[in-house]
Amino acid sequence: MQNENKLTDGKIYEKNDMVKLECGECEGCFSCCQGMGDSVTLNPYDIWQLEINLHKSFAELLQDKLELGISEGVIVPNLKMSGTQETCGFLNENGRCSIHAFRPGICRLFPLGRQYDEEKIGYIFLEHACPKPNKTKVKIKKWLGIPQLEANEAFLLHWHAIQKKVQQLAKVEDKDTVQELNMYLLNLFFAESYRGDFYAEFEKRAQMAEKLLEKLKE
Ligand code: SF4
Ligand code: SF4
Repeated sequence: MQNENKLTDGKIYEKNDMVKLECGECEGCFSCCQGMGDSVTLNPYDIWQLEINLHKSFAELLQDKLELGISEGVIVPNLKMSGTQETCGFLNENGRCSIHAFRPGICRLFPLGRQYDEEKIGYIFLEHACPKPNKTKVKIKKWLGIPQLEANEAFLLHWHAIQKKVQQLAKVEDKDTVQELNMYLLNLFFAESYRGDFYAEFEKRAQMAEKLLEKLKE
């Protein structure tokens, strides 16, 4: 499978493929943690990880480290960049990520990106995104370091499909309906804490969201 995007090396990888990603220590470079605008979006798994590890609610995280952004009519949280250097609030004074063990998925991927089709996730390599030379090969699965990666990918596919449906609805529904729908989904997937098994709980909520989306389509 070939990818036309010139930012990548043109290949679509799978999680067991080896890619030249490993750069050892970043040695004072934190260019991928600043100036990212609203591009580091977070999904419910990312928020759940932040909540349980930082012992903070979604509302508390929104007070300083996160903000809400809108993409194709869908409201989602993203990492807030602030200060003169537009820096992520989780970057510490030594220029290191203070939440490395539970950093969001987009940060884990870098310099990879995800490509979704209906049944599986492919990985693209943004080959010029990280300037560090002489990288060594590492298996993508190891690079990501996400426990239960198969379950996580299944969750991501479902989350992505729901977002696509909301984006479609946002194109045809009136402004108030879209706003109401966004508020409902923000509460359902982000504001209400996940207890017990995240993936099982997400599926329950996804079914509720899908019922509503079907109703709105009628
Ligand atoms: S751009 Fe590359 S070297 Fe710099 S912080 Fe990011 S991963 Fe590390
Ligand atoms: S969460 Fe960590 S890795 Fe991600 S942008 Fe912020 S400091 Fe960088």
